[in-house]
Amino acid sequence: MPTDIEIARQATLKPIAEVAGAAGIPGDAVIPFGRHKAKIDTALLPDAPQGKLILVTAINPTPAGEGKTTTSVGLSDALHRIGKKAMLCLREPSLGPCFGMKGGGAGGGKSQVMPMDEINLHFTGDFHAITSAHNLLAAMIDNSIYWGNPLDIDVRRVTWKRVLDMNDRALRQIVGPLGGAANGFPRESGFDITVASEIMAILCLASDLSDLQRRLGDIVVAYTRKREPVYCRDIKADSAMTVLLKDAILPNLVQTLENRPALLHGGPFANIAHGCNSVIATRTALTLADYVVTEAGFGADLGAEKFLDIKCRLAGLKPDAIVLVATVRALKMNGGVAKADLGEPDADAVRTGAVNLKRHIENLKKFGVTPTVAINHFHLDTDEEIAVIREMAGEFGADAVICKHWAEGGAGAEELAGIVAAKADAGASGFSPLYPDDMPLADKITTVATEIYRASVVHFDGGTARQLKQWEEMGYGKLPVCMAKTQYSFSTDPAKLGAPENHEVAIREVRLSAGAGFVVAIAGDIMTMPGLPRVPAAESIHLDENGQIEGLF
Ligand code: ADP
Ligand code: MG
Repeated sequence: MPTDIEIARQATLKPIAEVAGAAGIPGDAVIPFGRHKAKIDTALLPDAPQGKLILVTAINPTPAGEGKTTTSVGLSDALHRIGKKAMLCLREPSLGPCFGMKGGGAGGGKSQVMPMDEINLHFTGDFHAITSAHNLLAAMIDNSIYWGNPLDIDVRRVTWKRVLDMNDRALRQIVGPLGGAANGFPRESGFDITVASEIMAILCLASDLSDLQRRLGDIVVAYTRKREPVYCRDIKADSAMTVLLKDAILPNLVQTLENRPALLHGGPFANIAHGCNSVIATRTALTLADYVVTEAGFGADLGAEKFLDIKCRLAGLKPDAIVLVATVRALKMNGGVAKADLGEPDADAVRTGAVNLKRHIENLKKFGVTPTVAINHFHLDTDEEIAVIREMAGEFGADAVICKHWAEGGAGAEELAGIVAAKADAGASGFSPLYPDDMPLADKITTVATEIYRASVVHFDGGTARQLKQWEEMGYGKLPVCMAKTQYSFSTDPAKLGAPENHEVAIREVRLSAGAGFVVAIAGDIMTMPGLPRVPAAESIHLDENGQIEGLF
């Protein structure tokens, strides 16, 4: 099998205007960005009835990912193949994982979005715009302190850090500005990766440009010596930041390998933020197509929970069907098989690991939706192992469909497409979020931890309970919570695979994202600035003798 980038290079792409035309996007709304990418001016789209929304999520993943993006692409292509008008909605990849361990985020095999190299690298510059807007605010905060500190900012309590779209552990914690009076007042700070920026979350949740500016203004950047919040609006940065973001807020149109339309927009990480593409792109897609396929990051305990409790709640969306991606190798891993041995057939381990699948099915039912299990087929999977997944999913009340879109493109996912479209049409989704708006913040956290993670005890460490109370008094009590924890386990311990229960969840830190509209609760050692692995993917990325990029995946 050729590599992802080799397949990508052989693709025959259509001019983006043609892809837009086929998707029903009027020509004047298409702002071309080279031959194969375009921004869509959403203001120029006609009003249309909303299509059905299909969420793609997964069981707890192996470190390589379980193929949610690949399956989203394959499912969307397959819907077209069975005669449906579909649109794919994905996140834009971050340079961090691309040069680190995981690779890009444009799908794989014969189910990719194109041009994958540009999508995985600078794309249409959205992340650069977000990085610039974020750091403009940081510069203006330090500048205000420098010029006499009129807002009485407590330099020990500046909560706004800087960001960079790179895995760079050396920047996690820094001291600056150094070098004397001309440079300002030294203080401790740090960098997060751009995808963890509140600006990214705001861009993804805003309904339009004026809502974006209002949300930017609402960001709490620091506290005064009297412990009063200082807002981005007080720094007078919100309008200049909006200017920097005015093009980034428009969704990007690209195409799949089968020349079908895809909107790629926004890329919040699913650990620290809510992990799904922008509300603007999703809503746009819903007016353009009858079926919209979208992905939420990581496993269903994190990505789907936040898609449902944050994005759907805040944007008034509801999923009409949910696809739960499972792989033989991830179930084996959840069944105790070491990463190095995943190539060996082991139906018993699949059976043991299926407790993870069962837990996710049960959890999604708590939101009123029974998922369809997509078995993302790998070439070493045996019939016996596949049969075990089908049997187990059936026992827990879900259909399971084998999908070969990675090897075959949309043709390999037609059965899944038929089943999912029928479910969406049947109106069987009785979606409701897990908790109501007016539950106290700490109870919301406890509800997610006990109902979804199945913890028996939740500890609020280091003053976090007091902090949550304080935010409730400030009027933030109705916000949903955005949980940050490891993606590998239901618990906060990445080594506890399968379906751990009666574990303890400790909330180490809470952060207010007043502009985005959620409260982040950090459980365990999750990082907001990742590091590179011992051998980063960057070591193998290069231009070949023909000037073509090698090593991207
Ligand atoms: P996720 O979105 O769940 O993180 P991706 O769709 O990005 O996962 O896939 C992760 C990696 O696994 C990609 O490099 C992709 O090419 C590869 N992959 C996905 N499905 C298959 C498959 N069925 N067979 C082989 N490789 C696959
Ligand atoms: Mg993905």
